[in-house]
Amino acid sequence: MRIVVIGAGLLGLTTAWFLRRHGGEVLVIDRAPGPGRETSFANGGMLHASQANPWNEPGVLRHALQMLGKEDAALLFRLRALPGMLGWGLRFLHHSHPSRYVRNFEKNAQLARYSLSLMHELRTAIGADYDHAARGTLKLFRDRAGVDAAARLCERLAAWDIPFEIVDGAGAVRLESALAPIAERLAGGLYFPADESGDAYRFCELLAAAAAAEGVRFAYGTTVKRLLRSADCMLGVSTADGAYHEADAFVLAAGSYSAPLARQLGLDVPVRPAKGYSITVPGAAWEGRPRMPVIDDFLHAAVCPLGDRLRVAGTAEFAGFDLALTPSRIANLFTLLKQLYPAIAPHLDPTHVEAWAGLRPMSADGVGIMGETSVRKCFLNTGHGPLGWTMAAGAGKLVADAIVGSGPALDLAAYRLARFR
Ligand SMILES: Cc1cc2nc3c(=O)[nH]c(=O)nc-3n(C[C@H](O)[C@H](O)[C@H](O)COP(=O)(O)OP(=O)(O)OC[C@H]3O[C@@H](n4cnc5c(N)ncnc54)[C@H](O)[C@@H]3O)c2cc1C
Repeated sequence: MRIVVIGAGLLGLTTAWFLRRHGGEVLVIDRAPGPGRETSFANGGMLHASQANPWNEPGVLRHALQMLGKEDAALLFRLRALPGMLGWGLRFLHHSHPSRYVRNFEKNAQLARYSLSLMHELRTAIGADYDHAARGTLKLFRDRAGVDAAARLCERLAAWDIPFEIVDGAGAVRLESALAPIAERLAGGLYFPADESGDAYRFCELLAAAAAAEGVRFAYGTTVKRLLRSADCMLGVSTADGAYHEADAFVLAAGSYSAPLARQLGLDVPVRPAKGYSITVPGAAWEGRPRMPVIDDFLHAAVCPLGDRLRVAGTAEFAGFDLALTPSRIANLFTLLKQLYPAIAPHLDPTHVEAWAGLRPMSADGVGIMGETSVRKCFLNTGHGPLGWTMAAGAGKLVADAIVGSGPALDLAAYRLARFR
Protein backbone atom coordinates (compact mmCIF):
# COMPACT_ATOMS: atom_id res chain seq x y z
CA MET A 1 0.00 0.00 0.00
CA ARG A 2 1.38 3.43 -0.98
CA ILE A 3 0.69 6.34 1.36
CA VAL A 4 1.61 10.01 1.07
CA VAL A 5 1.81 11.92 4.36
CA ILE A 6 1.77 15.72 4.12
CA GLY A 7 3.70 17.18 7.05
CA ALA A 8 6.81 16.08 8.94
CA GLY A 9 5.77 17.51 12.30
CA LEU A 10 4.99 15.35 15.32
CA LEU A 11 1.70 14.07 13.91
CA GLY A 12 2.90 13.33 10.37
CA LEU A 13 6.01 11.56 11.62
CA THR A 14 4.26 9.28 14.09
CA THR A 15 1.66 8.40 11.45
CA ALA A 16 4.40 7.61 8.93
CA TRP A 17 6.27 5.53 11.50
CA PHE A 18 3.31 3.33 12.36
CA LEU A 19 2.28 3.04 8.69
CA ARG A 20 5.73 1.70 7.91
CA ARG A 21 5.41 -0.78 10.79
CA HIS A 22 2.29 -2.04 9.00
CA GLY A 23 4.40 -2.55 5.87
CA GLY A 24 3.22 0.56 3.99
CA GLU A 25 5.34 2.30 1.34
CA VAL A 26 5.40 5.78 2.83
CA LEU A 27 6.41 9.14 1.36
CA VAL A 28 6.45 12.14 3.72
CA ILE A 29 6.36 15.57 2.05
CA ASP A 30 7.27 18.74 3.92
CA ARG A 31 8.09 22.23 2.73
CA ALA A 32 10.66 22.71 5.50
CA PRO A 33 14.29 21.59 5.07
CA GLY A 34 13.92 18.92 7.79
CA PRO A 35 11.51 17.37 10.31
CA GLY A 36 9.76 19.25 13.13
CA ARG A 37 10.54 22.78 11.94
CA GLU A 38 7.14 24.41 12.48
CA THR A 39 4.79 24.01 15.47
CA SER A 40 6.66 20.95 16.71
CA PHE A 41 9.90 22.93 17.00
CA ALA A 42 10.00 24.64 20.42
CA ASN A 43 6.74 23.81 22.19
CA GLY A 44 6.24 23.57 25.94
CA GLY A 45 7.91 20.15 26.04
CA MET A 46 5.28 18.50 28.22
CA LEU A 47 3.45 15.26 27.51
CA HIS A 48 0.70 16.16 29.90
CA ALA A 49 -2.34 13.92 29.83
CA SER A 50 -3.19 15.90 32.96
CA GLN A 51 -4.03 18.95 30.83
CA ALA A 52 -6.51 17.13 28.58
CA ASN A 53 -9.33 19.56 29.39
CA PRO A 54 -10.25 21.54 26.24
CA TRP A 55 -9.67 25.29 26.30
CA ASN A 56 -13.33 25.96 25.56
CA GLU A 57 -14.43 25.32 29.11
CA PRO A 58 -17.81 26.53 30.34
CA GLY A 59 -17.58 30.30 30.83
CA VAL A 60 -14.90 30.76 28.15
CA LEU A 61 -16.87 33.57 26.46
CA ARG A 62 -16.96 35.69 29.65
CA HIS A 63 -13.27 35.00 30.16
CA ALA A 64 -12.42 35.97 26.56
CA LEU A 65 -14.49 39.18 26.77
CA GLN A 66 -12.69 40.19 29.97
CA MET A 67 -9.37 39.83 28.17
CA LEU A 68 -10.45 41.66 24.99
CA GLY A 69 -8.00 44.40 24.02
CA LYS A 70 -5.50 43.58 26.79
CA GLU A 71 -2.11 43.19 25.15
CA ASP A 72 -0.79 41.06 28.05
CA ALA A 73 -3.86 38.78 28.16
CA ALA A 74 -3.29 35.03 28.20
CA LEU A 75 -5.89 34.74 25.40
CA LEU A 76 -5.63 37.53 22.81
CA PHE A 77 -7.83 38.06 19.75
CA ARG A 78 -6.39 40.24 16.97
CA LEU A 79 -9.09 42.10 15.08
CA ARG A 80 -7.63 41.28 11.66
CA ALA A 81 -8.04 37.55 12.33
CA LEU A 82 -11.69 37.74 13.40
CA PRO A 83 -13.42 37.59 9.96
CA GLY A 84 -11.90 34.16 9.23
CA MET A 85 -12.77 32.95 12.72
CA LEU A 86 -16.50 33.60 12.93
CA GLY A 87 -17.86 30.15 12.04
CA TRP A 88 -15.07 28.46 13.96
CA GLY A 89 -15.64 30.74 16.96
CA LEU A 90 -19.34 29.92 17.14
CA ARG A 91 -18.55 26.21 17.13
CA PHE A 92 -15.86 26.81 19.78
CA LEU A 93 -18.47 28.46 22.01
CA HIS A 94 -21.06 25.76 21.23
CA HIS A 95 -18.66 23.17 22.61
CA SER A 96 -18.21 25.07 25.86
CA HIS A 97 -21.61 23.76 26.97
CA PRO A 98 -20.91 21.69 30.13
CA SER A 99 -22.07 18.33 28.75
CA ARG A 100 -20.16 18.71 25.47
CA TYR A 101 -17.11 19.99 27.33
CA VAL A 102 -16.99 16.93 29.59
CA ARG A 103 -17.44 14.57 26.65
CA ASN A 104 -14.57 16.24 24.79
CA PHE A 105 -12.42 16.25 27.92
CA GLU A 106 -12.91 12.48 28.20
CA LYS A 107 -12.02 11.92 24.52
CA ASN A 108 -8.78 13.85 25.04
CA ALA A 109 -7.98 12.05 28.28
CA GLN A 110 -8.42 8.64 26.69
CA LEU A 111 -6.30 9.53 23.69
CA ALA A 112 -3.62 11.10 25.90
CA ARG A 113 -3.43 8.05 28.17
CA TYR A 114 -3.18 5.75 25.15
CA SER A 115 -0.53 7.98 23.61
CA LEU A 116 1.66 8.02 26.71
CA SER A 117 1.39 4.23 26.89
CA LEU A 118 2.99 4.05 23.42
CA MET A 119 5.93 6.34 24.15
CA HIS A 120 7.86 3.51 25.77
CA GLU A 121 7.57 1.48 22.54
CA LEU A 122 8.82 4.44 20.50
CA ARG A 123 11.76 4.93 22.86
CA THR A 124 12.75 1.32 22.26
CA ALA A 125 13.15 2.27 18.60
CA ILE A 126 14.64 5.76 18.84
CA GLY A 127 16.18 5.94 22.33
CA ALA A 128 15.55 8.61 24.97
CA ASP A 129 18.09 11.16 23.76
CA TYR A 130 15.47 13.90 23.43
CA ASP A 131 15.85 15.17 27.00
CA HIS A 132 13.18 12.71 28.02
CA ALA A 133 12.15 12.85 31.66
CA ALA A 134 9.31 11.19 33.55
CA ARG A 135 9.05 13.31 36.68
CA GLY A 136 5.39 14.30 36.32
CA THR A 137 4.01 17.85 36.25
CA LEU A 138 3.23 20.30 39.03
CA LYS A 139 0.43 22.83 38.48
CA LEU A 140 0.53 25.80 40.85
CA PHE A 141 -2.22 28.10 42.07
CA ARG A 142 -2.05 31.43 43.88
CA ASP A 143 -5.31 30.94 45.84
CA ARG A 144 -6.97 28.05 47.60
CA ALA A 145 -10.18 28.37 45.55
CA GLY A 146 -8.12 27.70 42.40
CA VAL A 147 -6.65 24.52 43.90
CA ASP A 148 -10.08 23.30 45.00
CA ALA A 149 -11.73 24.01 41.62
CA ALA A 150 -8.91 22.28 39.75
CA ALA A 151 -9.03 19.32 42.12
CA ARG A 152 -12.76 18.92 41.46
CA LEU A 153 -12.09 18.92 37.72
CA CYS A 154 -9.27 16.41 38.13
CA GLU A 155 -11.47 13.93 39.94
CA ARG A 156 -12.66 13.12 36.43
CA LEU A 157 -9.06 12.52 35.35
CA ALA A 158 -8.54 10.09 38.21
CA ALA A 159 -11.65 8.20 37.07
CA TRP A 160 -10.00 7.91 33.64
CA ASP A 161 -6.81 6.53 35.20
CA ILE A 162 -4.78 9.75 35.15
CA PRO A 163 -3.66 10.09 38.77
CA PHE A 164 -3.09 13.33 40.71
CA GLU A 165 -2.23 14.49 44.22
CA ILE A 166 -3.14 17.74 45.96
CA VAL A 167 -0.18 19.49 47.58
CA ASP A 168 0.09 22.60 49.75
CA GLY A 169 2.81 25.24 49.31
CA ALA A 170 5.31 23.23 51.37
CA GLY A 171 4.44 20.10 49.38
CA ALA A 172 5.08 21.96 46.13
CA VAL A 173 8.53 22.97 47.40
CA ARG A 174 9.24 19.36 48.43
CA LEU A 175 8.56 18.35 44.82
CA GLU A 176 10.53 21.26 43.31
CA SER A 177 13.01 22.82 45.68
CA ALA A 178 13.74 25.73 43.29
CA LEU A 179 10.29 27.09 44.28
CA ALA A 180 11.45 27.69 47.89
CA PRO A 181 11.91 31.49 47.51
CA ILE A 182 8.21 31.93 46.60
CA ALA A 183 6.78 29.26 48.94
CA GLU A 184 4.74 31.81 50.90
CA ARG A 185 2.92 32.99 47.79
CA LEU A 186 1.82 29.49 46.80
CA ALA A 187 -1.63 28.38 47.88
CA GLY A 188 -0.81 24.89 46.66
CA GLY A 189 -1.08 22.85 43.56
CA LEU A 190 -1.77 19.57 41.87
CA TYR A 191 0.90 17.04 41.10
CA PHE A 192 0.42 14.68 38.14
CA PRO A 193 2.97 11.88 38.47
CA ALA A 194 2.24 10.15 35.12
CA ASP A 195 3.15 13.12 32.89
CA GLU A 196 6.41 13.16 30.94
CA SER A 197 8.52 15.76 29.16
CA GLY A 198 10.99 16.02 26.32
CA ASP A 199 12.24 18.12 23.43
CA ALA A 200 9.71 17.62 20.62
CA TYR A 201 12.06 18.83 17.88
CA ARG A 202 14.82 16.43 18.91
CA PHE A 203 12.20 13.66 19.07
CA CYS A 204 11.12 14.52 15.52
CA GLU A 205 14.72 14.33 14.32
CA LEU A 206 15.23 10.94 15.95
CA LEU A 207 11.94 9.52 14.72
CA ALA A 208 12.48 10.79 11.17
CA ALA A 209 15.97 9.23 11.10
CA ALA A 210 14.64 5.91 12.42
CA ALA A 211 11.76 5.98 9.93
CA ALA A 212 14.15 6.70 7.04
CA ALA A 213 16.30 3.77 8.16
CA GLU A 214 13.17 1.59 8.03
CA GLY A 215 12.44 2.71 4.46
CA VAL A 216 10.17 5.75 4.79
CA ARG A 217 11.01 8.27 2.05
CA PHE A 218 11.14 12.00 2.80
CA ALA A 219 10.75 14.90 0.37
CA TYR A 220 11.86 17.96 2.32
CA GLY A 221 11.88 21.47 0.91
CA THR A 222 8.79 20.45 -1.09
CA THR A 223 5.58 22.45 -0.84
CA VAL A 224 2.29 20.77 -1.59
CA LYS A 225 0.33 23.07 -3.89
CA ARG A 226 -2.71 21.16 -5.10
CA LEU A 227 -4.79 18.26 -3.86
CA LEU A 228 -6.76 16.64 -6.64
CA ARG A 229 -10.01 14.73 -6.40
CA SER A 230 -12.41 13.12 -8.79
CA ALA A 231 -15.99 12.54 -7.63
CA ASP A 232 -15.69 11.24 -4.04
CA CYS A 233 -12.05 10.11 -4.22
CA MET A 234 -8.72 11.86 -3.69
CA LEU A 235 -6.44 11.26 -6.67
CA GLY A 236 -3.10 12.84 -5.94
CA VAL A 237 -0.92 15.66 -4.75
CA SER A 238 1.05 18.09 -6.87
CA THR A 239 4.02 19.94 -5.47
CA ALA A 240 5.74 23.25 -6.21
CA ASP A 241 8.63 21.46 -7.95
CA GLY A 242 6.22 20.13 -10.58
CA ALA A 243 6.00 16.56 -9.26
CA TYR A 244 2.72 14.67 -8.96
CA HIS A 245 2.19 11.85 -6.43
CA GLU A 246 -0.57 9.27 -6.54
CA ALA A 247 -1.20 6.88 -3.66
CA ASP A 248 -3.67 4.48 -2.09
CA ALA A 249 -4.11 6.85 0.85
CA PHE A 250 -3.15 10.42 1.77
CA VAL A 251 -2.75 11.84 5.26
CA LEU A 252 -3.13 15.57 5.85
CA ALA A 253 -0.92 16.24 8.88
CA ALA A 254 0.07 19.79 7.98
CA GLY A 255 -0.87 21.33 11.34
CA SER A 256 -2.96 24.50 10.98
CA TYR A 257 -2.39 24.42 7.22
CA SER A 258 -4.39 21.19 6.94
CA ALA A 259 -7.57 23.28 6.86
CA PRO A 260 -6.73 25.38 3.75
CA LEU A 261 -5.33 22.26 2.03
CA ALA A 262 -8.47 20.24 2.76
CA ARG A 263 -10.61 23.08 1.43
CA GLN A 264 -9.25 22.27 -2.04
CA LEU A 265 -11.05 18.93 -1.72
CA GLY A 266 -14.26 20.62 -0.57
CA LEU A 267 -13.71 19.58 3.06
CA ASP A 268 -14.47 22.02 5.87
CA VAL A 269 -11.93 21.21 8.59
CA PRO A 270 -12.62 23.46 11.61
CA VAL A 271 -9.02 24.07 12.64
CA ARG A 272 -7.58 27.56 13.17
CA PRO A 273 -4.09 28.66 14.27
CA ALA A 274 -3.63 29.76 17.90
CA LYS A 275 -0.23 31.36 18.17
CA GLY A 276 1.89 30.59 21.21
CA TYR A 277 5.35 31.66 22.27
CA SER A 278 8.32 30.09 23.96
CA ILE A 279 11.73 31.13 25.19
CA THR A 280 14.53 28.65 25.76
CA VAL A 281 17.04 29.63 28.38
CA PRO A 282 20.40 27.97 29.05
CA GLY A 283 20.43 26.72 32.65
CA ALA A 284 23.71 24.84 33.04
CA ALA A 285 25.30 27.68 35.01
CA TRP A 286 22.55 27.64 37.65
CA GLU A 287 23.19 24.74 40.01
CA GLY A 288 19.81 25.12 41.76
CA ARG A 289 17.76 25.12 38.54
CA PRO A 290 14.37 23.39 38.59
CA ARG A 291 14.01 19.74 37.57
CA MET A 292 10.22 19.46 37.45
CA PRO A 293 7.87 20.86 34.74
CA VAL A 294 5.75 23.52 36.46
CA ILE A 295 2.57 25.09 35.11
CA ASP A 296 1.53 28.42 36.62
CA ASP A 297 -2.26 28.65 36.45
CA PHE A 298 -2.22 32.37 37.32
CA LEU A 299 0.17 33.30 34.51
CA HIS A 300 -1.17 30.69 32.03
CA ALA A 301 2.31 29.48 31.15
CA ALA A 302 4.77 26.75 32.06
CA VAL A 303 8.47 26.24 32.70
CA CYS A 304 9.76 22.88 31.55
CA PRO A 305 13.35 21.70 32.13
CA LEU A 306 14.81 20.07 28.99
CA GLY A 307 18.22 18.70 29.93
CA ASP A 308 20.16 21.70 31.18
CA ARG A 309 17.85 24.20 29.43
CA LEU A 310 14.60 25.73 30.62
CA ARG A 311 11.73 26.10 28.16
CA VAL A 312 9.12 28.70 29.09
CA ALA A 313 5.97 28.52 26.96
CA GLY A 314 2.45 29.76 26.93
CA THR A 315 -0.17 32.33 25.98
CA ALA A 316 -2.50 32.13 23.00
CA GLU A 317 -3.10 34.72 20.34
CA PHE A 318 -5.62 34.39 17.54
CA ALA A 319 -3.81 36.35 14.85
CA GLY A 320 -4.26 34.24 11.73
CA PHE A 321 -1.13 32.66 10.29
CA ASP A 322 1.12 35.50 11.46
CA LEU A 323 4.31 34.23 13.10
CA ALA A 324 5.86 37.58 14.07
CA LEU A 325 7.39 37.67 17.54
CA THR A 326 5.53 40.31 19.55
CA PRO A 327 8.01 41.73 22.10
CA SER A 328 5.39 42.15 24.85
CA ARG A 329 4.38 38.48 24.62
CA ILE A 330 8.01 37.40 24.91
CA ALA A 331 8.44 39.80 27.85
CA ASN A 332 5.49 38.05 29.58
CA LEU A 333 7.43 34.78 29.48
CA PHE A 334 10.50 36.41 31.04
CA THR A 335 8.26 37.85 33.76
CA LEU A 336 6.82 34.42 34.48
CA LEU A 337 10.25 32.85 34.69
CA LYS A 338 11.53 35.50 37.11
CA GLN A 339 8.37 35.40 39.22
CA LEU A 340 8.51 31.63 39.61
CA TYR A 341 12.26 31.39 40.04
CA PRO A 342 13.69 34.71 41.29
CA ALA A 343 17.03 32.97 41.88
CA ILE A 344 17.54 32.68 38.11
CA ALA A 345 18.13 36.45 37.77
CA PRO A 346 21.96 36.43 38.03
CA HIS A 347 22.14 33.56 35.51
CA LEU A 348 19.76 35.03 32.94
CA ASP A 349 21.52 36.40 29.88
CA PRO A 350 18.87 37.65 27.38
CA THR A 351 21.41 37.47 24.52
CA HIS A 352 21.51 33.67 24.89
CA VAL A 353 17.76 33.18 24.99
CA GLU A 354 15.98 31.70 21.98
CA ALA A 355 12.53 33.17 21.37
CA TRP A 356 10.04 31.37 19.17
CA ALA A 357 6.41 31.40 18.08
CA GLY A 358 4.31 28.54 16.70
CA LEU A 359 0.74 27.97 15.57
CA ARG A 360 -1.24 25.45 17.58
CA PRO A 361 -3.72 23.77 15.21
CA MET A 362 -6.88 24.34 17.28
CA SER A 363 -10.01 22.38 16.48
CA ALA A 364 -13.37 23.95 17.26
CA ASP A 365 -14.22 21.44 19.98
CA GLY A 366 -10.73 21.08 21.47
CA VAL A 367 -10.27 17.48 20.27
CA GLY A 368 -7.94 16.36 17.48
CA ILE A 369 -9.42 15.42 14.11
CA MET A 370 -8.28 12.01 12.93
CA GLY A 371 -9.14 9.28 10.48
CA GLU A 372 -11.13 9.04 7.29
CA THR A 373 -13.11 11.82 5.65
CA SER A 374 -16.01 11.89 3.19
CA VAL A 375 -13.38 12.01 0.40
CA ARG A 376 -12.14 8.47 -0.11
CA LYS A 377 -8.40 7.93 0.42
CA CYS A 378 -8.09 11.25 2.30
CA PHE A 379 -7.30 10.90 6.01
CA LEU A 380 -6.67 13.61 8.60
CA ASN A 381 -4.37 13.87 11.60
CA THR A 382 -4.56 17.44 12.81
CA GLY A 383 -6.26 19.80 15.24
CA HIS A 384 -4.49 18.59 18.39
CA GLY A 385 -4.03 22.21 19.49
CA PRO A 386 -2.14 22.58 22.78
CA LEU A 387 -1.83 18.80 23.13
CA GLY A 388 -0.06 17.72 19.95
CA TRP A 389 3.10 16.48 21.66
CA THR A 390 1.02 14.58 24.22
CA MET A 391 -1.19 13.00 21.56
CA ALA A 392 1.36 12.37 18.82
CA ALA A 393 2.15 8.70 19.43
CA GLY A 394 -1.48 7.67 20.01
CA ALA A 395 -2.90 9.73 17.17
CA GLY A 396 -0.25 8.48 14.73
CA LYS A 397 -0.94 4.85 15.63
CA LEU A 398 -4.73 5.22 15.44
CA VAL A 399 -4.63 6.87 12.01
CA ALA A 400 -2.14 4.31 10.68
CA ASP A 401 -4.31 1.46 12.01
CA ALA A 402 -7.40 2.98 10.38
CA ILE A 403 -5.66 3.31 7.00
CA VAL A 404 -4.51 -0.30 6.87
CA GLY A 405 -7.76 -1.58 8.39
CA SER A 406 -6.22 -2.97 11.57
CA GLY A 407 -8.76 -2.43 14.40
CA PRO A 408 -7.63 0.73 16.25
CA ALA A 409 -7.36 0.61 20.07
CA LEU A 410 -9.85 3.49 20.43
CA ASP A 411 -13.03 3.96 18.44
CA LEU A 412 -12.08 6.58 15.85
CA ALA A 413 -15.71 7.53 15.21
CA ALA A 414 -15.50 9.99 18.11
CA TYR A 415 -12.51 11.74 16.52
CA ARG A 416 -13.44 11.84 12.83
CA LEU A 417 -14.23 15.00 10.88
CA ALA A 418 -17.80 13.72 10.45
CA ARG A 419 -18.57 14.63 14.09
CA PHE A 420 -18.90 18.28 12.98
CA ARG A 421 -22.21 18.74 11.20
C1 LIG B 1 3.87 27.70 22.48
C2 LIG B 1 3.39 26.28 22.31
C3 LIG B 1 3.54 25.40 23.38
C4 LIG B 1 3.08 24.09 23.25
N1 LIG B 1 3.29 23.22 24.27
C5 LIG B 1 2.85 21.94 24.18
C6 LIG B 1 3.10 21.03 25.24
O1 LIG B 1 3.75 21.33 26.23
N2 LIG B 1 2.57 19.79 25.12
C7 LIG B 1 1.84 19.40 24.04
O2 LIG B 1 1.35 18.27 24.02
N3 LIG B 1 1.67 20.22 22.98
C8 LIG B 1 2.14 21.48 23.03
N4 LIG B 1 1.97 22.34 21.99
C9 LIG B 1 1.21 21.88 20.81
C10 LIG B 1 2.06 21.06 19.86
O3 LIG B 1 3.33 21.64 19.70
C11 LIG B 1 1.33 20.99 18.50
O4 LIG B 1 0.03 20.51 18.69
C12 LIG B 1 2.06 20.07 17.54
O5 LIG B 1 3.39 20.47 17.37
C13 LIG B 1 1.37 20.06 16.18
O6 LIG B 1 2.08 19.18 15.36
P1 LIG B 1 1.63 18.96 13.86
O7 LIG B 1 2.44 17.85 13.33
O8 LIG B 1 0.15 18.87 13.79
O9 LIG B 1 1.98 20.35 13.14
P2 LIG B 1 3.41 20.91 12.70
O10 LIG B 1 4.46 20.57 13.67
O11 LIG B 1 3.21 22.37 12.39
O12 LIG B 1 3.73 20.12 11.38
C14 LIG B 1 3.05 20.39 10.18
C15 LIG B 1 4.07 20.28 9.08
O13 LIG B 1 3.38 20.46 7.83
C16 LIG B 1 4.25 21.16 6.96
N5 LIG B 1 3.40 21.80 5.94
C17 LIG B 1 2.39 22.68 6.13
N6 LIG B 1 1.85 23.03 4.95
C18 LIG B 1 2.55 22.36 3.98
C19 LIG B 1 2.48 22.31 2.57
N7 LIG B 1 1.56 23.01 1.87
N8 LIG B 1 3.35 21.51 1.90
C20 LIG B 1 4.30 20.78 2.58
N9 LIG B 1 4.41 20.81 3.93
C21 LIG B 1 3.53 21.58 4.61
C22 LIG B 1 4.99 22.14 7.86
O14 LIG B 1 6.22 22.52 7.29
C23 LIG B 1 5.14 21.35 9.15
O15 LIG B 1 6.41 20.74 9.26
C24 LIG B 1 2.42 23.66 22.05
C25 LIG B 1 2.32 24.55 20.98
C26 LIG B 1 2.80 25.84 21.10
C27 LIG B 1 2.69 26.78 19.93
